[in-house]
Amino acid sequence: MTPRFAQRMAEVRPSAIGELLALGADPSIISFGGGYPDATLFPAEELEACFREVIRAPGGQAMQYAPSNGLPRLRQQIAGLMQADGVACTAEDVLVLQGSQQGLDFAARMLVDPGEVIVTEDPTFLGALIAFQPSQPRFAVVPVDAEGMQTDLLAEVLAANPQARMLYTVPDFQNPTGVTLSLARRHELIRLANAHDLVVIEDTPYRQIRFAGESLPTLKSLDSEGRVIHLGSFSKVLVPGLRLGWAVAAPALLARMGLLKVAADTQTSTLNMAVASLYLDRYDLAAHVAGLRRAYAAKKEVMLDAIRRHFPQEIGATDPEGGLFTWLRFPEGFDATAFMREVALPRARVAYVPGATFFPLTPRPNHARLNFSAQPEAKIREGIKALGEALKSHPR
Ligand code: PMP
Repeated sequence: MTPRFAQRMAEVRPSAIGELLALGADPSIISFGGGYPDATLFPAEELEACFREVIRAPGGQAMQYAPSNGLPRLRQQIAGLMQADGVACTAEDVLVLQGSQQGLDFAARMLVDPGEVIVTEDPTFLGALIAFQPSQPRFAVVPVDAEGMQTDLLAEVLAANPQARMLYTVPDFQNPTGVTLSLARRHELIRLANAHDLVVIEDTPYRQIRFAGESLPTLKSLDSEGRVIHLGSFSKVLVPGLRLGWAVAAPALLARMGLLKVAADTQTSTLNMAVASLYLDRYDLAAHVAGLRRAYAAKKEVMLDAIRRHFPQEIGATDPEGGLFTWLRFPEGFDATAFMREVALPRARVAYVPGATFFPLTPRPNHARLNFSAQPEAKIREGIKALGEALKSHPR
C-alpha cells in the first residue's frame, strides 16, 4: 500500500544529513559526530552489581510494573539532587522520564497547537527540533553568542510573536555550541517569560559536566511563577543506555505530563529505575561525576590545543566551560556539509556534524559541531591533525 499519513507527520522526515552521519559509523573513520559519553568511563562493575541485586529483590519488585510517574525512592533521590543544585522541590514535583528526550516530546505535545510558536536558540539541539515537529509548530529563533541566548534579541522576537507559547533553552554548555547562558541573561529570560506568559523548557543534560568557572543557578531556581519545566538526565553522568531522565515542574504542568507518560509507555523501565536508585544509595555519584569532569576537561584541552596547532587561523572554535562539544566557525562561504562529504570523510577520514542541521529556520553552512568526549586523546590528536591538513590543502 501507499500509506496515507496524518497531517502531523508532514514535517517529520529524516535529517538531510542522516546519510552523511551514517558514514561516520565506519570504524576506520575518527568520528567527532555523535554526542556520546566516553564508554570507558561507564561504571560497569557498579551497575552490574546493582542489576544483580535488584533482580533478586523480594517478590520480583524490580521486574514488576511500577507507578507511572516513577519509583518513589528514585523520585525522592532526584528531588535530593535538585535540592543540592538549589531547586526547592520534593519527590512530588518529579516525573521520571525515559530520557530527557521524552520530556521534549511531552512538552510540545501538551503546550503547542499546530502553527503556534516555539522559541529556540539559533542554533539549537537537533533532537529537540525532531521532538517538536509532530506538534507542527512554527519556530522563532534567537541567536546565541558567547553568553548564550541573546536576551535583547529574545525581547524583539517575543514582541514580534506575542502568541509564542513555549521557549526551549539549553542554558548550560549548550548543544551544539557549548556556550553557557550568563547570570544576567538568566534573570532577563525569566523576566521576559513572565511578561509574555511563556512556559520555559530548561534542558540540562550537561549541567553537571562543568570543568571551569562557577556553576550558575538553574532557571528553575529563579522561577517564582511555576513556568519553568526543568529537564534533567542521567545519560551524561551515569550511562545513556539506562534511558533515564526527569522533569521537575509545577503541579499543573507535571500532572499533564504524567498523563502523556501513561499514554506513551505506561512508565519508565522498573528495572532501570531500580538500578539507578540503588546506584545512588550505594555509590558516590558526585565522585563519579568529578572523575568525568577531569577526563572531559583534559580531552577538551587536547582538542582545542590540536585545533590551535593544526587548523587554519581563520577558523574559530568555542572554548566551553563544560559539556561535550566545541562549535567551529569557518569563514563565510565555506560549506561544512559539502566539505565533509567531499574531503573530511573520504580523505581525512574524520566525521563531525555539519552545523547547518542545528538551525531551525535558516541553515548557516559555515559551522560544525565537534564532540570531544567519545574519542581517546590519541585519536583526538590524530583526527584534528588530519582535519586541519585537509582544511589547509582543500580551502573552499
Ligand atoms: N537534550 C540535549 C540538549 C541533548 O544533547 C540530549 C542528548 N544528547 C538530550 C536532551 C537527550 O538526552 P537523554 O539521553 O536524556 O534523552
